[in-house]
Amino acid sequence: MAERWNWRNAARCRTDDADELFVTGAQQREAREFCRACPVRTECLAHALDEGVEFGVWGGMTERERRALLRSRPDVTSWHDLLTGARTAYYAGDEHEHSATGLARAAELAVAERTAQRLHESA
Ligand code: SF4
Repeated sequence: MAERWNWRNAARCRTDDADELFVTGAQQREAREFCRACPVRTECLAHALDEGVEFGVWGGMTERERRALLRSRPDVTSWHDLLTGARTAYYAGDEHEHSATGLARAAELAVAERTAQRLHESA
């Protein structure tokens, strides 16, 4: 059985102070901004949702946002499959075929965020 790629090795918070992601109140806004530039944001968010991680900002979402998302979509059995599938579908679109790396990464982050937001709103 093939092992999943270890996304943690590419995490932005791996080398910075990860404690800054376990903050409360207004500071969480800054933590979310920090995650916005992380190359493995989708994987991180999916992990937190699949494992039911209760505290901290993961994948750019606060614990409160994740709880609301989980409550709104009890039917989802694998957030990893759902979010990475949405990302793959996004890249399969012709309009994004020739994106530069930087733009593609920004789009990837935005896709994960929009997907999570849409799922929350449609519930
Ligand atoms: S998205 Fe996840 S892995 Fe990336 S910086 Fe934020 S908490 Fe760390």
